[in-house]
Amino acid sequence: MRDQSSSSATPSWARRFRRWAMGLFRLSLIAAAMGCLFLMPLREELDTAGFLREAKKDFPQSASLGEAEQGFFPVLDASGELLAWVTSTNPQAQSIQGYAGPSELLVILDAQRRVKRVDYWRSADTAGHVEKVRRDEAFWMQWNGREESSLSALGSPQLVSGASLTSEAMARGLAARFGAQGMEEFFTHELTREDVKPWFAEATKIFPMKKIGYYEVSSNDKVLGIILRSSRMKVAARGFNGASDVLVAIDANDQQVLGVGMIGSRDNEPYIIDVKEELKYADGFAGKKIDEIIVHEDGGDFLLVSGASTTAHAVIGTVKEMLRRHRAAERIKSFPWQLPVSFAWMAAGLYLGFRGTKKSRTIFALVSVAAGLLFGLMVGQDQLIGWARHGVDWRPALPLLALTAVALLVPALTGKNIYCSRICPHGSAQTLAGMVIKKRFVLPAKIHRVLVAIPWLTLLSIWVLALAGSALPFANAEPFEVWSTGFISLVPAILFTISIVIAFFLPQGYCHYGCATGALLKFLTHAPGRWTWRDTVATVFVSAAGIFCFIMR
Ligand code: SF4
Repeated sequence: MRDQSSSSATPSWARRFRRWAMGLFRLSLIAAAMGCLFLMPLREELDTAGFLREAKKDFPQSASLGEAEQGFFPVLDASGELLAWVTSTNPQAQSIQGYAGPSELLVILDAQRRVKRVDYWRSADTAGHVEKVRRDEAFWMQWNGREESSLSALGSPQLVSGASLTSEAMARGLAARFGAQGMEEFFTHELTREDVKPWFAEATKIFPMKKIGYYEVSSNDKVLGIILRSSRMKVAARGFNGASDVLVAIDANDQQVLGVGMIGSRDNEPYIIDVKEELKYADGFAGKKIDEIIVHEDGGDFLLVSGASTTAHAVIGTVKEMLRRHRAAERIKSFPWQLPVSFAWMAAGLYLGFRGTKKSRTIFALVSVAAGLLFGLMVGQDQLIGWARHGVDWRPALPLLALTAVALLVPALTGKNIYCSRICPHGSAQTLAGMVIKKRFVLPAKIHRVLVAIPWLTLLSIWVLALAGSALPFANAEPFEVWSTGFISLVPAILFTISIVIAFFLPQGYCHYGCATGALLKFLTHAPGRWTWRDTVATVFVSAAGIFCFIMR
């Protein structure tokens, strides 16, 4: 009663203003949490106090650092005279993987820009390997006295035995920092006719196609088939000790895999030899349909190598991922009107969300399910975290960006969760499932009260883990991946199946009792214009994340 009277006494413009202000505040909390994820790795790059401390070891008169020029800090004495330069190998070295992650080195140059010292700075690689490299004096000394202009040439760096992947990545990172291109590419070998001979014996020409990692193989202008190359497609499932460069040969009809080969590897020698031999003499992929390989749950039938199972599984995973991407790319290619149709779907969902009737909702649920199957577009936590951490290439992601904007902006500004009520394909599939069986199951109030907390706890857990730097696959926390990839990943597939089955008996069961993204959108729409305990929790959480982010600098 009190609320009603007070709201009727408040002018409508003031109510609208309050609703917008609260909506924008809640949106800004989401943006701030994403900003923390984005900033954390960047902050690591600028430990200028540490740079100065290190410079003092070589140049004791160092008093301060001047303004950086392209990441090179001038080291100055008390009178402002230039003594040296200091820099680190990031960000260029960030994409260069060692054994289990990239490393960053410190580089100190004298005033004439000759190397005074190269040293370890920090690493995400395995501690044991890093330690081995750190103790190897010869490794660090190899650059001393070299001119800056010569550092971009990788040459044949002296590596550390027993930590070759880590030390090679460090050496490559240093070359990249000084201008070398393609250092993250460990497999530099150019594809030759010899490489494709096992499947295309009569090949006369191999040329790279527009799509990176694809090669057309032909003989006197007759196309024989295509080759997919994992290192160029940036598919790198890790074996026992590193990734391999895998080729997949596909027939001219683009249906059948002719075979799989390995032309390079960073994995352990004996395991690679076993896997290579197996692929050469008993290639279980040969003759299989592309789709058959993609959907195969385990893949053990294709490549059985006793004693090298990690390497073999990595190759199987690589092949499946390459084929999955190939099929996904094809789907987009064969469907050029994806963009306008997906926009029309969103626009119709928006219109019906404001003006639609109950009947139109049912019809549009069918449309949304069809759109979900066609486009595979879903807003999810994994995607938001991925964008925050790595950015987004807006051109290919335009439909998903638009969908995300609709999902977040509309509830924040209007108080209506149109994405959940009209557009979300998974929500729509549950709506349709709920219409099949008339008898509804209603949870007892006590159980309901407990279960409704699950989406909020899931949402909170996902973001706590993400902000703590966890590399867990957050796509496993929701069933949405199934809409774009099919039943390939086990956990999303299980969540998908359970949520749809439950929806037959418990209307929108997953939406109410499981969906973290639904909870995030509910946060934007709940109590429009009013501050609630949820706002307090979210504000405290995001502030704590901001402080954590600041400390981690
Ligand atoms: S709650 Fe989750 S599954 Fe349900 S409609 Fe919303 S986003 Fe989709």
